[in-house]
Amino acid sequence: MSSAERYAQLLATARIRERPLLLLPRHFSELELQARWFAGDFGRSFTSTAGEEVEIVQFGTWNRAAGPDFSDAAIRIGHSEIVRGSIEFDLADQNWEAHGHATNPAFDDTVLHVFVEAGPRAFFSRTSAQRNVPQVQVDPATLPAGLAANLPLARPGRCQAPLRDLPEEKVRNILDAAAQFRLARKAQRLGRLAELHGRDEALFQELATALGYKQNKLPFTLLAQRLPLKVLRALPNEIEATLFGVGGFLAAPDLAQFEAATRSYLRALWDKWWPRRSELERLVLPPRTWRLSGTRPLNHPQRRLAALAALAADWPQFLRSLGKDDLKATRDFLLSCAHPYWNFHYTLTSAPAAAEMALIGETRATEILANVVLPLRQAQGREVWPDYQKLPARLTNRRLETGAARLFGDDPRRASFLKTVAQQQGLLQIYEDFCLQDNSDCAQCPFPEQMQKWT
Ligand code: SF4
Repeated sequence: MSSAERYAQLLATARIRERPLLLLPRHFSELELQARWFAGDFGRSFTSTAGEEVEIVQFGTWNRAAGPDFSDAAIRIGHSEIVRGSIEFDLADQNWEAHGHATNPAFDDTVLHVFVEAGPRAFFSRTSAQRNVPQVQVDPATLPAGLAANLPLARPGRCQAPLRDLPEEKVRNILDAAAQFRLARKAQRLGRLAELHGRDEALFQELATALGYKQNKLPFTLLAQRLPLKVLRALPNEIEATLFGVGGFLAAPDLAQFEAATRSYLRALWDKWWPRRSELERLVLPPRTWRLSGTRPLNHPQRRLAALAALAADWPQFLRSLGKDDLKATRDFLLSCAHPYWNFHYTLTSAPAAAEMALIGETRATEILANVVLPLRQAQGREVWPDYQKLPARLTNRRLETGAARLFGDDPRRASFLKTVAQQQGLLQIYEDFCLQDNSDCAQCPFPEQMQKWT
């Protein structure tokens, strides 16, 4: 049995003992839920409110025109023929009526109405031609942690004492097993995304999510979903302008406020964006989607967006690097990405930096290797664990610190358990599987006992 399978078994044993969970309160925006829907996180097989089986054959594309959220989708109801059309995703079933979809001919080709909350009485989604649109209700409580999550407070948990008494090798072994389990799940997710959208689009979406880390995963994911790689690469000279335009960063054409280098950079972007603006206007992200403050200047989302544009522009070279056996080829490619403006600027409004900065630095490159490239290789059936194990941990974050505080408390070995990406990922997996599922202040958490039985 592999380590990942042993961890899965530990998790399954623990779940048998679980009492009903009181889920942590989470607030999802409609945009986040739509992005999770498009990523297939709710699954692709459902039961409609009328009791029929609904299979999503094709999730379609984010709609650019007035009308439902996703166009060119395909679904199958029961064993009938596949039907093609649009999918509308709403927070509440009655939004169909409240938002005027029932009388709007732009919604006439809707084949599925997905919603989160059902009102007190049965509601039927009808088109202006009085056609009944099948409905599916989805439950955000089933979603794994992803684009946003609430975190419990950091304080040592009940497993701190038994963990402190465990030999170092056993602790490392448990972390490794949890990391392999996590890696396998990421590989499955990438495989599933590739099934839904094709390998390149899946890869592009995951790269975008990795570049959005950690506060802007949602807008980056939305951008890659709304501007598929195929669409961007069809106009290779406009990739960056289109991403910045749909990102909402080219809204105010008052160039006078910017310093000379920024003025000329923005003018070039605007010249390319304005002719496309009306065509893509509906896809432009609202400003509130972005978290522009609280990130280190080096990690500002505008720099990351330029990095995403560079990857899209150099896609064939990126794919070539992925084909090599040695992971170093991809790492070198990522580190070699350059940009005449962004190598010297933190944001569009900052003064030029004194020294040159990498567009994608060592830390981000390692994160991309760990979260995108190696899971992709695993999904392709390649052996990745030896490379994965070697990746050094370059980052920490609140979730990791919280997990470390809960599991290890002040164990002097704490730092030595978190020196690699694999160990950090293992800790995060345990934290999500146990700490985030616990509502008994550790009292009923099965992890301490399960861990002691680990051989
Ligand atoms: S919830 Fe479980 S895994 Fe988390 S700190 Fe408490 S005992 Fe440990």
